Amino acid sequence: MVKNIAVIRGDGIGPEIVEEALKVLNKIAELYGHTFNYIDADMGGCAIDKYGDPLPQSELQKCIDSDSVLLGAVGGDKWNGVPGNMRPEKGLLRLRAGMGVYSNNRPAKIWPQLSDASPLKKSIVDKGIDFIIVRELIGGIYFGEHKTEGDTAIDVLTYSEAEIERIGRIGFETARKRGKRLCSVEKSNVLDSSRLWKKVMHKLAEEYPDVELSDMLVDNCAMQIVKNPAQFDVVVTENMFGDILSDEASMITGSIGMIPSSSLGATSCGLYEPIHGSAPDIAGKDLANPIGTILSAAMMLRFSFDMPNEADAIENAVSAYLDKGYRTADIMSEGMQQVGCKHCGDLIVENLKKV
Ligand code: NAD
Repeated sequence: MVKNIAVIRGDGIGPEIVEEALKVLNKIAELYGHTFNYIDADMGGCAIDKYGDPLPQSELQKCIDSDSVLLGAVGGDKWNGVPGNMRPEKGLLRLRAGMGVYSNNRPAKIWPQLSDASPLKKSIVDKGIDFIIVRELIGGIYFGEHKTEGDTAIDVLTYSEAEIERIGRIGFETARKRGKRLCSVEKSNVLDSSRLWKKVMHKLAEEYPDVELSDMLVDNCAMQIVKNPAQFDVVVTENMFGDILSDEASMITGSIGMIPSSSLGATSCGLYEPIHGSAPDIAGKDLANPIGTILSAAMMLRFSFDMPNEADAIENAVSAYLDKGYRTADIMSEGMQQVGCKHCGDLIVENLKKV
């Protein structure tokens, strides 16, 4: 198969981790006889430096025209002073909106080899952590009006029934393919938008009698994720709640550097990126963990290119790498062998076997 992949390296550790994911994709292409064409696109701080804009239309168009987008990360202190609508992260919000990807899916899964890295008690971890947070991505408060009038700042939170329904469907469909349990998270004791959210979810549930729907308030969910994460199968929630909860969920699995994500809309063209940021503190030091990006590439193969065997091959290679005791600094523990970002990528390529 021939696939065109738009590649956004971005800022900080972005270029380093993307390079390793491309090494892995190249090996997959060789093993399975595919052709992956990479189209470089600029976004974030590097685009501000080059074009004075975090995502010029030409770069967005490359992404829209591709079969999928692989992204490293954007942002950094260097661009802290630029006006709000020109910040590197604005490029990311515009990319998501421009691609029409309204669903962000983040697995929170503990790798057995890394169970010691979880900050949770062993008795909690041993019950298993394996759930997905489906987060609405292009609506809600992040996309509402933002303004400051005198000493008052205003951010507007809006959701329509249609916006809730389409993300709700992704939640139900995802649950249907897994443990058939969907937890809808909102703040319906306070917010009108959450009351609408709950109403739409329950109406949708009539179409999915095989999926068990439960409701949870977001503050309770934040507690339950650390108290009893094994209770969750699929969580569906709005943009800001999902942003915060998925970071919390990533922490209980041990390393933010290990977690991939996919963002999908109505077409198969998706946006794939690790959940972490550009980590300026370790940029250029060959210290970054590229596995979140490598697993994001695996998700791209599975969800956008319909290549489940190729995706399994990558996930098996990551598992074999961990089994052999290799660790980047962020997940290093006693008795393991520390490797840098480049070496990690090479070792995963070395362990890649055709499934
Ligand atoms: P961050 O995720 O970049 O870093 C948080 C901590 O995790 C740091 O100590 C970092 O070294 C570590 N870390 C992150 N990824 C790692 C990896 N792959 N391997 C090893 N360690 C890793 O979050 P931050 O420091 O809050 O943000 C830094 C910049 O990234 C900011 O400009 C922020 O706006 C931006 N950001 C971008 C995205 C994105 O591009 N999607 C997401 C979040 C933050």
